[in-house]
Amino acid sequence: RVELRNVWKKFGSVEVIKGVDIDIEDGEFVVLVGPSGCGKSTLLNLVAGLETLTSGDIRIGEDVVNDIPPKDRNIAMVFQSYALYPTKSVRENITFGMQTRGIERSVQEEALGDVSQLLHIDQLLDRKPGQLSGGQRQRVAMGRALVRNPDVFLFDEPLSNLDAKLRVEMRTEVKKLHLRLGKTIIYVTHDQIEAMTLASRIAVMDNGHIRQFGTPEEIYENPVDLFVAGFMGSPS
Ligand code: ATP
Ligand code: MG
Repeated sequence: RVELRNVWKKFGSVEVIKGVDIDIEDGEFVVLVGPSGCGKSTLLNLVAGLETLTSGDIRIGEDVVNDIPPKDRNIAMVFQSYALYPTKSVRENITFGMQTRGIERSVQEEALGDVSQLLHIDQLLDRKPGQLSGGQRQRVAMGRALVRNPDVFLFDEPLSNLDAKLRVEMRTEVKKLHLRLGKTIIYVTHDQIEAMTLASRIAVMDNGHIRQFGTPEEIYENPVDLFVAGFMGSPS
C-alpha cells in the first residue's frame, strides 16, 4: 500500500503539490497524467524520498516514510533518462546496487539471470550502454530497478525517449512485467493511450492537485469536470 495524506511541497514560496491525498492498493498499476509542470515528477520524487515533504505524510506498507532515506524505502525508480554508467557493462550496471549493499555473489548472479531473461537482455550482459539501442538501454534501467525487488516501482516517463514502434513494444513488456510480478506501480506518462492500456486506476493531476482518481473507464466515461474530459479526450 502507498498512502499520501495531505501532502504539500513548496519550492521556496512556490506551492507545487497542494494537499494531495491518494490511497494505492497493493499490486495496483496507477498512472499519473497531467500537463507539463503540474507536479507529477515532484510527487514521484516525494514518494521516492528524493525530495522532502513540506507537510503531510507518506506511508509505504505500514510505515510512515517521511524521514526514511530513499535507499531504505521499499521502492525502485526508473527515470526517463536511463542514467546508466557508461563505462560499466550491462552486467555491472544491473548488479552494482547489489554489490554496494553487500549481497552475496551467488544471489547477485541468480537475480541477474532471472531479470535479464525476463527483459530479454541476457545476450547483452557484456556490452557497454553505448553499444545498445534505446529500447535495450531502457530494459537495462528496468533490470537495475527489478533486481532491488521492492514492493513499489516508480516510473517517470520511462518510454518517452523511444520511437513510436519501440514505445508500443515496451508498453506491452511493462504490462507483462506487472502481470507477472504483481508489484505496485506508479507510472507517469504523457501518452493517453499508454495510460488507458496500462492503468488499473488513473490519477489526473492539475496544478498540484489530483482532479480525479479512477479506473480508465470512470475517467473516460464520467470525467468530473471539463479539465479531465479535455485531458483524456472523452466525449462531453
Ligand atoms: P513534466 O510533464 O514537464 O515532466 P511535471 O508534471 O513532472 O512536468 P514537475 O517536474 O513536478 O512537473 O514540476 C512541477 C513544478 O515545480 C514546475 O513548475 C517546476 O518548475 C517546479 N519545480 C520542480 N522542481 C523544482 C525545484 N527543484 N526548484 C524549484 N521549482 C521546481
Ligand atoms: Mg516530469
